[in-house]
Amino acid sequence: MTAQRVVLATGNAGKLREFAALLAPAGFVFEPQSAFGIEPPEETGDTFLANALLKARYAARLSGLPAMADDSGLEVDALGGAPGARSARYAEDGAGDASAPPRDEANWRKLLAALAGVPDAARRARFRCCIVLVRDADDPSPVVGEGAWEGRILDAPRGDGGFGYDPVFAPVDPAFGGRSVAELDAADKNLHSHRAAALRALLTAWQAR
Ligand code: IMP
Repeated sequence: MTAQRVVLATGNAGKLREFAALLAPAGFVFEPQSAFGIEPPEETGDTFLANALLKARYAARLSGLPAMADDSGLEVDALGGAPGARSARYAEDGAGDASAPPRDEANWRKLLAALAGVPDAARRARFRCCIVLVRDADDPSPVVGEGAWEGRILDAPRGDGGFGYDPVFAPVDPAFGGRSVAELDAADKNLHSHRAAALRALLTAWQAR
């Protein structure tokens, strides 16, 4: 089997390792878009799928190779699905203070403030991830994998692992004992996360072609 070179449209070394580990057996060899001098485009889509597609098509156009991209975020029921595709920039919406805390912390602080007084039963949320693979920039039928991880938003942050909203998100699966994702081992997270589920779905969709 000839290895399939694919550009991974992310600058995140952790994602590159995660993707390579799961998809190497299927014959994919990933190269980061930085190896082609590609800077991430602006994520102007309203949905995870739109943003993942936009990033993958952009990397495929500039590299001339197939490209894979993911987009993810947090969906909170009590907030009508926000912050959603705006998860990375949530605290910047209507803010812009140069002395603000680091972005991840500013994001979860804004989320806790938005949910102040909301009872535990109404704090349901999920991380979502969408991963796409395009054979070229104009590919009319991208391979798509989607995954979700159900949880609830805690009242206060717990743990110091992970990134993003991990300190305030606790999976509903009782196997995690109510711990936040920031209190889990990285290996445990990588096995159960929305990203892992989306990668597995993408692999299944690819093999079904
Ligand atoms: P992106 O898909 O890398 O653009 O991530 C979007 C944003 O969603 C991140 O900046 C985080 O705020 C949030 N997010 C996505 N996945 C996770 C996760 O596994 N843990 C915590 N936050 C996440």
